[in-house]
Amino acid sequence: MTREVHWHQGEITREDRERLNGHRGITLWFTGLSASGKSTLAVAVEEALHARGGHTFILDGDNIRHGLNRNLGFSPEDREENIRRIGEVARLFREAGVINLTAFISPYRKDRLNARAMGPGDDFVEIFVDCPVAVCEDRDPKGMYKKARAGLIPEFTGISAPYEEPEHPEIHLRTDRLSVEECVGRILGYLIEKRYVSDREPAVAGLSE
Ligand code: ADP
Repeated sequence: MTREVHWHQGEITREDRERLNGHRGITLWFTGLSASGKSTLAVAVEEALHARGGHTFILDGDNIRHGLNRNLGFSPEDREENIRRIGEVARLFREAGVINLTAFISPYRKDRLNARAMGPGDDFVEIFVDCPVAVCEDRDPKGMYKKARAGLIPEFTGISAPYEEPEHPEIHLRTDRLSVEECVGRILGYLIEKRYVSDREPAVAGLSE
């Protein structure tokens, strides 16, 4: 196989796509323990953005772990590769001018920083979905903590594998103290404040005017 692979630049740029879509291509990167609320919030935020005319897409376990990454497990190496691939896909979605929302535990700081560093700029919003492990364990919507405590799931984040908290997330939400609606409101508020989306419903913000 040849290593002579070159990026073929098309005629249509990211800026062209963003202009057509009427908003920036950005990544909302949700990170936190299992059952902290990543999927719930990604789904609710996507709904709100879609209602405003945003072009959106969620990357989550179902469309990634069962497809693109189905050959990966939960060892530290596989977790790193899992997040590297998701980071690349998220970057492609940014290039496509889409607001993409990723809902993965993504427990390692270095891997999240790498996903952010794929660039190109201020288009990566890290959202720390923060909830004490005891509350997550109490919620346990999929019975995963129960299985992990019984030793049936090795390397389970928060129980037998580490979670490295974000140091400088753009948004930090305590989901044991805030309702889903309050969390969605804070995320939308941030996106409006930073002019990623417009505060005029249902339109989505234009690019810098
Ligand atoms: P994750 O995707 O992080 O594994 P889920 O979204 O599947 O977590 O599950 C989180 C659970 O916590 C859901 O049952 C949800 O209703 C509940 N929950 C309670 N408060 C919140 C909140 N503020 N934000 C998100 N989820 C919450």
